[in-house]
Amino acid sequence: MRFEASRAKALDQLNNFVKNNLSKYSKLRNFDFGPNIRSNISCLSPYITHGVINELEVIKKSLNKFSFAKSEKFIQEVLWRVYWKGWLELRPNVWSDYLIELSQIKQEYKSNKNYLKAIEGKTNIECFNHWVIELKEHNYLHNHTRMWFASIWIFTLELPWQLGAEFFMKHLYDGDIASNTLGWRWVAGVQTQGKHYLASEWNIKKFTNDRFQNIKLNEKACPKISKKIYSIIKKKFNNPQNLEKRDLIIFENNLSFETTNFQNQKFRKIYLVLNKNEKRFIKLSEKVLKFKSLLTEDQKKRLEKKSISCEIININEMKNIKEEIYALYPNISENLDFINSNNLNNIKFLYRKIDQFSWQYCNKGFFNFKNYIPKIISIF
Ligand SMILES: Cc1cc2nc3c(=O)[nH]c(=O)nc-3n(C[C@H](O)[C@H](O)[C@H](O)COP(=O)(O)OP(=O)(O)OC[C@H]3O[C@@H](n4cnc5c(N)ncnc54)[C@H](O)[C@@H]3O)c2cc1C
Repeated sequence: MRFEASRAKALDQLNNFVKNNLSKYSKLRNFDFGPNIRSNISCLSPYITHGVINELEVIKKSLNKFSFAKSEKFIQEVLWRVYWKGWLELRPNVWSDYLIELSQIKQEYKSNKNYLKAIEGKTNIECFNHWVIELKEHNYLHNHTRMWFASIWIFTLELPWQLGAEFFMKHLYDGDIASNTLGWRWVAGVQTQGKHYLASEWNIKKFTNDRFQNIKLNEKACPKISKKIYSIIKKKFNNPQNLEKRDLIIFENNLSFETTNFQNQKFRKIYLVLNKNEKRFIKLSEKVLKFKSLLTEDQKKRLEKKSISCEIININEMKNIKEEIYALYPNISENLDFINSNNLNNIKFLYRKIDQFSWQYCNKGFFNFKNYIPKIISIF
C-alpha cells in the first residue's frame, strides 16, 4: 500500500475502487487483511482529508455506477467525516479543552515506561505492536484496527486517550482533527457518554483472518467518565454575497481549488499555506509533513497549468498580509488556531456548500444525521 501524493493518483484510486470493489464494500469493509490487501476499502482518506478529492466527487462517482441503495453504506461512511466536522464546529471547546488536557498529560507521561513502550511497539500484545509498526511505516491503519488500537491503548494498557489521539495525528497521512479526536473520544466512552468500544479477542481474530493469536485484553473495562458537557455554540457559516476581486488563501484541507464552489471566481492570486511543525502544537512526523508538502506542490502545478497566479507560503507569512483577503475555511484545526491567536481579522472565510448545508444536522447523533443523507446528496 502506497499513497502517492497527487490528485491524479487519488482519482485513479477512486475510479479503481468504484469499478472493482465498491459492490462488495458493505460485506467486506470490516476485515483488515493487512497492509498488502486493501482492496476491500477505498483507502481514499489521505486524499479526502486534504481536499485533493472531495466527498461529493466520491459520492457522485459511486452513484454513477450504482444505485443509492447499493452504495448507501459507503456514502454513509464518506459523510461521517462531514458529520464529525460539523459536530466539532458546533462545539469548538472540545478541541481547545483537548489541547489543554494534552499539554498537562504530556508532562505527566513523558517518562512513563508503559507509554514509551506503547509508542515503540514493545508491549506484550503482539497485534498492538504490529499495528504501531504498520502505522509508522504506512502512515495508515484500517478503520476497525483504529478502533481496536484505541481500545487496547485506553482499556488494556490504561493510557490516556488524549496521548493516543496525538500519536495517531503524528503518523497518519489522513490525520484529521475532527475524525481523530472524536473517534478517540467515542472509543473511550466520553463522546456518547457511557458508551465505549471494547476490543475483544474473538473479534480481532475473526476480522484479521486469524493473523494474530493469544490476544489477552481487558474485555470488561468500564467507560471513561468526563464531567464536561458541551452545549452547542451557534455559529453562522455564511459567505459574502458578492465576492470582490481579492487574493485567496488555501490551507492543507482544500488542495483542489478546481473542484471547489469558488473555482469560477477570479482571484488575483492564490496563496497555498504550509504549516510546518514550529506552528503546530501536535508535532507531525517528517513523512506526514512531506506528504502535505508534495500535495501542496501538486496543487500549485495544477493551478499554474491554468495560468492562475499562485505561491506557496509558510503560515507565518500570513501575518505580512495586511489587506482583506479570502480564505477557504480551514475548519477547526491548528491553522484556524493560528489565525485566531494572531488576530488575523483581515481574513474572510469562504465555506463549502456541503458544509453549510450539512452542519445544521450535526446537533444530534449520527443516527439522526443519517436520515438527512438523501436530502444532502439530492441538493448537489
Ligand atoms: C480512533 C479513530 C481515529 C480516526 N482518525 C481518523 C483521522 O485522523 N482521519 C480520518 O480521515 N479518519 C479517521 N478515522 C476514521 C476512519 O478510520 C478512516 O477515515 C478510514 O479508516 C479511512 O480509510 P478508507 O479511506 O479506506 O475508508 P473507507 O472505509 O473506504 O471509507 C470511505 C471514506 O469515508 C470516510 N470515513 C470512513 N469511516 C469514517 C469514520 N469512522 N469517521 C470519519 N470518516 C470516515 C473517510 O473519508 C474514508 O476515506 C478514525 C477512526 C477511529 C476509530
